[in-house]
Amino acid sequence: MHRIYLDANATTPLDPRVRDLVVQWLDAGNASSPHAEGRAAREAIDRARDQVATLIGAHARDIVFTSGATEANALALVGSVRARDIKQVFCSAVEHASVLQTLSALQPAVQLVVGAVDEFGRLPANAPLPAGDLGLVSLMLANNENGAIQPVREIAARAHERGALVHCDAVQACGKMRVDVTDLDVDLLTMSAHKMNGPKGVGALYARRKAVPHPLFFGGEHERGLRAGTENVAAIAGFGLAAELARQELDARRELWARLRDRFLRDLRAVLPDVVVHSPDDGLPNTLSLTFADVEGEAVLLGLDLQGIAVSTGSACSTGAAGPSHVLIAMGLSPEQAERSIRVSMHASTAEEDVVTCVQKLARVVKDLRALQV
Ligand code: PMP
Repeated sequence: MHRIYLDANATTPLDPRVRDLVVQWLDAGNASSPHAEGRAAREAIDRARDQVATLIGAHARDIVFTSGATEANALALVGSVRARDIKQVFCSAVEHASVLQTLSALQPAVQLVVGAVDEFGRLPANAPLPAGDLGLVSLMLANNENGAIQPVREIAARAHERGALVHCDAVQACGKMRVDVTDLDVDLLTMSAHKMNGPKGVGALYARRKAVPHPLFFGGEHERGLRAGTENVAAIAGFGLAAELARQELDARRELWARLRDRFLRDLRAVLPDVVVHSPDDGLPNTLSLTFADVEGEAVLLGLDLQGIAVSTGSACSTGAAGPSHVLIAMGLSPEQAERSIRVSMHASTAEEDVVTCVQKLARVVKDLRALQV
């Protein structure tokens, strides 16, 4: 069966151009070796570092490759707390679990203050920062569940006035909107290759020179001593190409998504007028968080899966944890409402007919589930 994949915020399909490059480098030398094999691997990594840095307007020297965004977030947060003996941290209630749980694990030595968000999951630009010895602010740029974009620049300016470091989890933003570390005025920024058609298991942390964290791993001088361990040359090379393609194709992708999002919502409202959209109009154009009265998101997901369509729920169940999504709860949904949500997220090769078919099948699944209840 031809599958329609609309779960890009979980992971994107590997771009065939990236796949070819990854395969080419799978048998690379050790980039620390001085011989020709090692030098070739080092060159591939250096090229990728330039490509990744260019995507976010950074210097290549400020990029540290990691095993993914979860590790990059841990390096930024735990590493900064250790480097500066930070006692108080502020973040939003809708951060990814890899930020929220890392910061929670630092308690009680570190006081964690969590800022409330509005009904679309946005921290207000004038949100009060906590009184006290604020050392670090961590705010995502775009939310994985509903695509909401946070006022990172405004919050960063106020955090810097207080002398705090600013970290931004830009995993979902990179490749979907313009990201520039100077414009955002952030000290640390997290990226992940597999959200932009690159391979899984590779990410990066941008760390401005004055904000270099303490390393989490020891035993080698790789990545300027910030990430010991032999580099995954193939994955890093693939990440580099994915970042370059994301930059070159950003405008075209955004136009495509904006058009498909409009089509999706227009078609959907025509057949299911009571759909509630939990994504803001000015959020990521590829992401739609939706709820339908009386039907569980999990049941819709499974129904669509049987019909050849992959979407996600807004519930943490899909990640193995129990309970509704903390993001939707923070937005003011009741646990019952949050359990009804589904997320549709498009990637660079989503086609108009995918969206049309998805809406038709979604309407059928929702109507069938409702019919079962009476
Ligand atoms: N932050 C955000 C906002 C994410 O969406 C994800 C992935 N779901 C991560 C961090 C973790 O990324 P990785 O899979 O590369 O560890």
